[in-house]
Amino acid sequence: MTSTITQRVGHLIGGEMTAAENARAVHDPGKLDEVVAEVAVGTVDDVDRAVRCAHEAFQSWRQVPVAERVQKLLAAADVLTGSADELASLLVREHGGVAWEAHTDFALGTGVLQHTASLTEEFFTPVQFDDAESFISVEKVPRGVAAAIVPWNMPVVLTMMKLAPALATGNTMVLKPSPFAPAALTLALSRMAELLPPGVLNVVHGEGDVGAALCSHPLVRKVGFTGGTETAQKVIGATSETIKNVTLELGGNDPAIVLDDVDIDAALDRMLKGVYTRSGQICFAVKRIYVPRGLYQRFADAFCDRVDEYAVGHGLDSNAGFGPLNNETQYKKVLDLLDRTRNSAANLVQLGRKLDPAGWDNGYYVLPHVVRDTEHSTPISCQEQFGPVVPLIAYDDEQQVLEWANDSEYGLGSSVWTSNPDRGLDVARRIEAGSTFINTHAFESLDLRMPFGGIKQSGIGREFGTDGLAAYVEDHSIRRLK
Ligand code: NAD
Repeated sequence: MTSTITQRVGHLIGGEMTAAENARAVHDPGKLDEVVAEVAVGTVDDVDRAVRCAHEAFQSWRQVPVAERVQKLLAAADVLTGSADELASLLVREHGGVAWEAHTDFALGTGVLQHTASLTEEFFTPVQFDDAESFISVEKVPRGVAAAIVPWNMPVVLTMMKLAPALATGNTMVLKPSPFAPAALTLALSRMAELLPPGVLNVVHGEGDVGAALCSHPLVRKVGFTGGTETAQKVIGATSETIKNVTLELGGNDPAIVLDDVDIDAALDRMLKGVYTRSGQICFAVKRIYVPRGLYQRFADAFCDRVDEYAVGHGLDSNAGFGPLNNETQYKKVLDLLDRTRNSAANLVQLGRKLDPAGWDNGYYVLPHVVRDTEHSTPISCQEQFGPVVPLIAYDDEQQVLEWANDSEYGLGSSVWTSNPDRGLDVARRIEAGSTFINTHAFESLDLRMPFGGIKQSGIGREFGTDGLAAYVEDHSIRRLK
């Protein structure tokens, strides 16, 4: 086994990168015998130190004029852009994505910082009433120390969706990255932290115990969490004792509803990006596709033909359409789902090709799969697969497909595919989800003006824009009688 340690990454506390007593090796999910980084493993004491540091920094950061904080955020956006070329390949080697996906993560993160900065000053304008009886001022104040807990699939943008509104509104932050993609993110954050007063932005590495310690720390006033629904239940439990405000961005099982007037070729160009980008490991990936029965064979044949063009390999191989899964748990979960589907009445089709057959077993690689001739109620249709496999389900009429689309405890994204814009809008309005896209369902569907988040068990609250800013402030209502 070869082992090439390229990065050592510590905690970032009070403006300093500190070495840790314990470190954990991060392996390349596309070359398991390579160690990409050695990353600190934090303790409850590290969390306490970071939170106290952030609490102290909060006392002065909250007093910094809004315009100055906005300038810092814009400078941080420049630093993030400047870091992208250097850090994207490190990100590829720890999270398993392909190069353009890692660059997209940095670019989206920069966009979130800039967009949030552009909204902050107006957002802070107090709402005031002045009449014969009284003067009222409703003012926005930061909450205090905000904890951010993020997953591994798009770590940069998912962090910026919390960091930008938190810091712009005068909070300070302690972030816990995922142990499966901590290095590139922390190196980018350490550069951004140099622009800020010490303690405003802190990072503590670790696993569930570190996350839990952040969630229960009495000086943490806000938790912004992105991850799985089961972990979110623990976050709610840990934050309940100290009554913290939480924003939760969780899993999804996004339906794509194809209508009978769809232009199949045009739809496939965009839809495939929504299914197989990041090997399907995106919270709002297309996870089940409903096709009118009369169109089913034609659509399924065309879909499989296109999927067969995918080449799967290491993210740094420019021929790779997508890379390996991120970690062993996720890999085993997807393989188990494929086995169960293979042994069911459905027709599981394996497609695409291996770019490096000799290196295939040295990574968590899975070829693209399509599940044909399956039903709405099967595990592959009802579960979040988070992998490169998607079921195609035939439906008979609009009422039935809407019932099926809404028959889920998830409600994150969704899409409608049609040549008729009005019909698309009509169907979109009847879907239960945080977002519905028409003729698109991928990164390119996102617009920072659209609040992002889920309903039902896909989450609580929204990120992006003023909704995102509002999650990090309290209203302070002041009334003076005359
Ligand atoms: P996860 O829930 O296992 O982990 C997320 C984060 O929580 C990690 O940093 C992890 O270390 C931490 N954590 C683990 N136990 C904890 C605890 N007890 N208390 C506090 N924190 C704890 O999720 P994952 O495997 O990293 O990511 C995949 C999941 O994330 C999928 O379900 C996916 O849909 C979801 N996700 C959602 C969005 C969204 O915006 N809605 C985006 C990306 C991913």
